[in-house]
Amino acid sequence: MPYPTGSDISSAVLLPLMMFAVAVSIRLAGSNARLQQRRVQQRDQALRQLLAASRQRETLLKTILDTIDVGIVAVDSQGETLLINGQQKEFLHIAMPAEGSPAPGQQEWLVFGQDRRTPLPPGKGPVRRAVQGETYSDYLVWFGAGDKQRAISTAARGMKNDVDDGFGGAVIVFRDVTDVLDALTAKDELVANVSHEFGSPLTSILGNLDLALRGAEELQPGTRRCLEIAERNAGRLRALVQDLLLSAAAVENVHLRPTDLAGLVENSLVSAQAQASAAHVGLVADVPAPLWADADPLRLGQALDNLVSNAIKYSPGGGLVSIRAARKNGWVQLEVQDTGLGMTADETSRIFTRFFRTSAAREAAIPGVGLGLSITKSIVEGHGGNITCHSLPGRGSTFTVALPAGPPPEHAS
Ligand code: ADP
Repeated sequence: MPYPTGSDISSAVLLPLMMFAVAVSIRLAGSNARLQQRRVQQRDQALRQLLAASRQRETLLKTILDTIDVGIVAVDSQGETLLINGQQKEFLHIAMPAEGSPAPGQQEWLVFGQDRRTPLPPGKGPVRRAVQGETYSDYLVWFGAGDKQRAISTAARGMKNDVDDGFGGAVIVFRDVTDVLDALTAKDELVANVSHEFGSPLTSILGNLDLALRGAEELQPGTRRCLEIAERNAGRLRALVQDLLLSAAAVENVHLRPTDLAGLVENSLVSAQAQASAAHVGLVADVPAPLWADADPLRLGQALDNLVSNAIKYSPGGGLVSIRAARKNGWVQLEVQDTGLGMTADETSRIFTRFFRTSAAREAAIPGVGLGLSITKSIVEGHGGNITCHSLPGRGSTFTVALPAGPPPEHAS
């Protein structure tokens, strides 16, 4: 029998082996395809579930946004609206110019400043400010005109973009605070009326005490002392009543005109010099001149005097009071910084409330009634500005007043 050749061996062994390998590969490929298909189906199902969950979340978010009585707008970096809720659409409806007048765009929306009459200057609308990258809160504007006018408190926060974490737009929130303002106005009117009614009897008391004390030599020393105490306290009461009247009237009596704030600071420094020297407090100022803003020199001067005199008064161990001012993004910022008693964060948040006094001020028996800062705040807000305070107990305080910068008067260049 002849020996099997190489080709016999290959056809007898290798061929079946190859056939077997091919069959196994085909089978494997088949089960692989089924596995892939199952995976695709699973992924598809997971995606559908995700989509359903995200739609549900979107519906929930939209329902919440349309349920709350706060207006919300999200805009991109160019100011294009990305989202707006139902309440905000209602607010916009109030601010829409009256029927028959040109459409918004041709005529400005009915959005006014603190005095309820002056349209907001260009770039000062809540959305514009947010698009310019400003973060702010408690920015009060008035929407609409006549009896439909509403006071709206606005706040804005910026959003980052996905590309380079730069400015990607902003969310602006609008809250109707008309009722709160009405209540505050009613309270102010009551305070003003009561204070006014106190005026005449107090004048009479003081006049009669003065008359009685003029004939002091006929009085017993004890009686004279009592009358003097009564006169001193009636005097304090009259100062308090005057402050109350002033605080109620501060906003209404603001008459804006181009004013050089550098000059106002200079006046404040001159008036405070004697108080500062007596208290061993140094006074320094860094204010570029001239520094124009639309301001009521009398009222703003009074606000500045309050801040400077407080800075000195609440530095009982002596120290340094610095006044700085600068122009920044269409605003003028005035800072009054001291190295005095300072206060806690909780106290700082309450100092603009009438009659609030810090425990350090009371313990150090520093005279005061807690009205100056509430008057100062009203004056600053009457200018369309805002006032903030940053303070650390034992380290000192910095009060910052921000006012819309104004153009110089026409005759000044
Ligand atoms: P008054 O000085 O008459 O008490 P204000 O309204 O001016 O009233 O101030 C309210 C309170 O805020 C003060 O009683 C004091 O406790 C605190 N305060 C104001 N200014 C300062 C300051 N510069 N440093 C520390 N505390 C201050």
